[in-house]
Amino acid sequence: MRAKRAKQYKKAMNIYKNAYGFREPFQILVGSDFVLECLQSKISIIEQLTKTVGHMKVLITNCSIQDLRNSGESNIGAVVLARKFEKRRCTHTPTISGHQCIEEIIGDENKFNYCIAIQDSTVRSKFRNIPGIPLLHINRSIMILEPTSKASMFRVKQVEQEKISISKEEKLRLKKDLKDADGPSAPKSSLNKRKKRKGPKEPNPLSIKKPKKSSTSITKNPTTNINTHSDNTAPSLDRDKQSSPNVDGSDISNKPKRKRKRKSKNAQPLE
Ligand SMILES: [Zn+2]
Repeated sequence: MRAKRAKQYKKAMNIYKNAYGFREPFQILVGSDFVLECLQSKISIIEQLTKTVGHMKVLITNCSIQDLRNSGESNIGAVVLARKFEKRRCTHTPTISGHQCIEEIIGDENKFNYCIAIQDSTVRSKFRNIPGIPLLHINRSIMILEPTSKASMFRVKQVEQEKISISKEEKLRLKKDLKDADGPSAPKSSLNKRKKRKGPKEPNPLSIKKPKKSSTSITKNPTTNINTHSDNTAPSLDRDKQSSPNVDGSDISNKPKRKRKRKSKNAQPLE
């Protein structure tokens, strides 16, 4: 039974964490009647609260402490105990009823994310109508964390729906992203196609380049020749002379000349 309860309580506190933004240490705002009940039932408040909700700290208002003082000299021990808890400041001077004080602090939305530990069943029933308030009390010397109220669960369902809607939005975004991804992927395929096209094209230009180089060299020669033409007539004459032997077979005429020179040079040292 204890293990079951522990699981239930952990699950309940996770609901408050996820749907309402509760964070550990949980803040337990205790009423004066709860403190008195714990002392009478010989329950260690901090130990049992920790077992029930987990990592937490106990808060009490000055008004609640005043309630304990007013409850009689026999409850001095409760006052001493309550003073050890962290004080939750309130604006009540002079002090008001501790329960009223807590109700004012909680307001309509429990924006500070307090857990309320209180024995008064009418006050607890009021708090059940406000979403996001974990309610604790002592029943037959056992600390009880109330099941999550309908008001709280309504909000939980809303949050879940929001999450679902968000997930839908995310899905739409994902679809868009996928479309975008398809967009770039299409050009990629085209690029691949282009590359493939480039493949066959490349060898052709390479084969063409060689003739181009030769052509350029040829063109350069004519340009220089043309320049020589424009500059002087003499070089043109030379060119004509060169061209005429070239046509006839200048290579043959030049080669023998060079051979002769080399032969003469070789011949001189030999002689
Ligand atoms: Zn107060």
